[in-house]
Amino acid sequence: MTKTCEVCHEEKPLIRYMATMMCGRCMQTEMNAQKQIDDTAHERVEELRSTTRHATLLDKHGAKLDLSESQAVDLLTKQLKVDEEQKLDTDKFNASTVSIIEMKAAIDAIPSIENKTFELFTRLQARFDHDTEIIFKSRQITCNLMGF
Ligand SMILES: [Zn+2]
Repeated sequence: MTKTCEVCHEEKPLIRYMATMMCGRCMQTEMNAQKQIDDTAHERVEELRSTTRHATLLDKHGAKLDLSESQAVDLLTKQLKVDEEQKLDTDKFNASTVSIIEMKAAIDAIPSIENKTFELFTRLQARFDHDTEIIFKSRQITCNLMGF
């Protein structure tokens, strides 16, 4: 049986490490390298996350920001419908709400909307007012159920 280290090729007492027969010195080098990889793993994950966070978030919610005018009109119609269909705060959990960034993209894609900021503001204000009403109504129901 040969006692040649598979890493440095020197004849030394060997040990099996990471499926390789190697000497003590090579094993230590390998362990240090492994430790460094482990120590920086968190950093690398964070770095990857921050660069892809924006794109990933949009992907996850299926946001499509490159819209034709007709797609934009459809999206804004859907947005009003989805927002208005919610009657209780529990509806909000499952509603496939159109995100603000999508609303903005849709408004930007429709040339006939002249004041884009105002349009977005109006829609967000309507959503906010509606949500406030929903939450207030849900609280009233809860209070009634509890006998207050
Ligand atoms: Zn070695």
